[in-house]
Amino acid sequence: MVVVLTVGRIWRAFKVITAEKNFHPHSQYQEYITQMSAQHLESYITHLPTFQVVVCRLCESCIPPKDPLRHYEDNHTAKNDHPVPSKVRHEITDYMATLDLCQPKEVIYPYRLVPELKVVKNGFMCNFPNCGSCTTSESSMRTHYYVHQKSVPKTYKDWEATSLQTFFNGHNRKYINLYQS
Ligand SMILES: [Zn+2]
Ligand SMILES: [Zn+2]
Repeated sequence: MVVVLTVGRIWRAFKVITAEKNFHPHSQYQEYITQMSAQHLESYITHLPTFQVVVCRLCESCIPPKDPLRHYEDNHTAKNDHPVPSKVRHEITDYMATLDLCQPKEVIYPYRLVPELKVVKNGFMCNFPNCGSCTTSESSMRTHYYVHQKSVPKTYKDWEATSLQTFFNGHNRKYINLYQS
């Protein structure tokens, strides 16, 4: 409650400043949002400038920069395990708009552990030359292997168990092997 009141007060002060002459709305607004948000949103999100992404700390997965509210509607309403108040969701959206973020397809995967992201320990990586596809179950790896050959006998196995991570979930999910060189 104290935080809400403080934010409200600063917000009003900000509006007074914006009414003044010679105000550069974009830069000062950005500064305001960045300072405020970094402090009181840090229990919800982590900004990783190296990868130009924002990680949801509740899901340990990245929030798509195009539509952060959607992430909260899908995962953090009152019926979910980790609900996030509507006010906070909008603050996160405003904060993310001030950051220089990558679209999900542009993220450069590091092929090493990113501590802020969830680790899938029971993953699999295809060993077919130059493939490197990853799945989270052996049966889906077996299904995947049909892209390489017509028949995949039950005893056949050309993949290895490994740990995986993905920056995004949903249709932007892309698992990578943490130990790929
Ligand atoms: Zn989340
Ligand atoms: Zn493959």
